[in-house]
Amino acid sequence: EQAMLQARYEPDRMLVCKTRITPMGVDPADVMTAINEGQLSMWLQPILDVRRRNIVGAEALARWEHPEKGFVSPGVFIPVAEGSGMISHFTRWSINACLQQVSEARKLGLDFPIALNLSATAFAERGLVEQLLGGLKLWDVAPRDLVLEVTETAIVADVRRGANQLRQLNAAGVRVSIDDFGVGNASVSYLKEFPATEMKIDQSFVTGMLGDLRSLQIVKAMIVFAHQMGMRVVAEGVEDDATLEALGDLNCNLAQGWAIGKPKPAAEFLAELKAPAPG
Ligand code: C2E
Ligand code: MG
Ligand code: MG
Ligand code: MG
Repeated sequence: EQAMLQARYEPDRMLVCKTRITPMGVDPADVMTAINEGQLSMWLQPILDVRRRNIVGAEALARWEHPEKGFVSPGVFIPVAEGSGMISHFTRWSINACLQQVSEARKLGLDFPIALNLSATAFAERGLVEQLLGGLKLWDVAPRDLVLEVTETAIVADVRRGANQLRQLNAAGVRVSIDDFGVGNASVSYLKEFPATEMKIDQSFVTGMLGDLRSLQIVKAMIVFAHQMGMRVVAEGVEDDATLEALGDLNCNLAQGWAIGKPKPAAEFLAELKAPAPG
């Protein structure tokens, strides 16, 4: 719990919180300030094609650099934004920030999709579909270069409404990925209604799977299940090469985690991807 409350980032970057932040310590009004004063930025984390061993996409992860508190984790400030009605402003910011990076990537001659996380409450907001489709036009981004990461919780909150919006987006060519699969409160029945092309296995199953037989069996079964449903599988939280190897043996399509690359500021990430470091 304490660990969750502290924004702990890559030790090599030393982006450790200067003070301890509790959810209570983040004022909802600060979230608005963060948006308006440019304290938020989008970072990118690579997604690897397990068989071919090349980077085929990235996930956009929001970062908030608070002037006094240091880096505040999205795991802390997003729930605050959700609880305070600020979330629609944050969602608007995140759509724009993500599409800007897809557009930057293309300018650099990189052609790969970027995945955007949508809050569990995003589907309750009015005009989400219009915002997304409008954003694609504005940034001149092909719908296939945007992947929406949606959690079970978001879907289950209002299955019909959520599925409806996702169907519209899917019809426009935007792909949908189910994030943190297996840790929500959902029954799998929503998959009957839901146009997902990808399943992300939550890191809580993946990270320790080589040392825990039950985790390994769950990961195996989820991969088979996803493939049966015609979905690609992304394993999250791959922290070492042995786990990556094992996922390859299990026919997992894609992988994400520290063993492949940590999240980095978008500009830095894209520049490095364009000109890979020698060696
Ligand atoms: P998520 O979408 O499941 O993102 C994966 C989280 O796992 C990220 O934490 C990432 O930094 C972390 N991670 C990646 N590889 C590893 C690894 O190998 N080991 C471990 N232990 N962790 C790894 P982050 O960036 O702190 O984000 C936390 C959550 O906040 C995300 O979970 C997502 O639900 C939410 N979030 C982040 N950015 C946004 C955003 O722009 N919009 C919305 N709505 N939610 C966001
Ligand atoms: Mg995600
Ligand atoms: Mg996830
Ligand atoms: Mg997660």
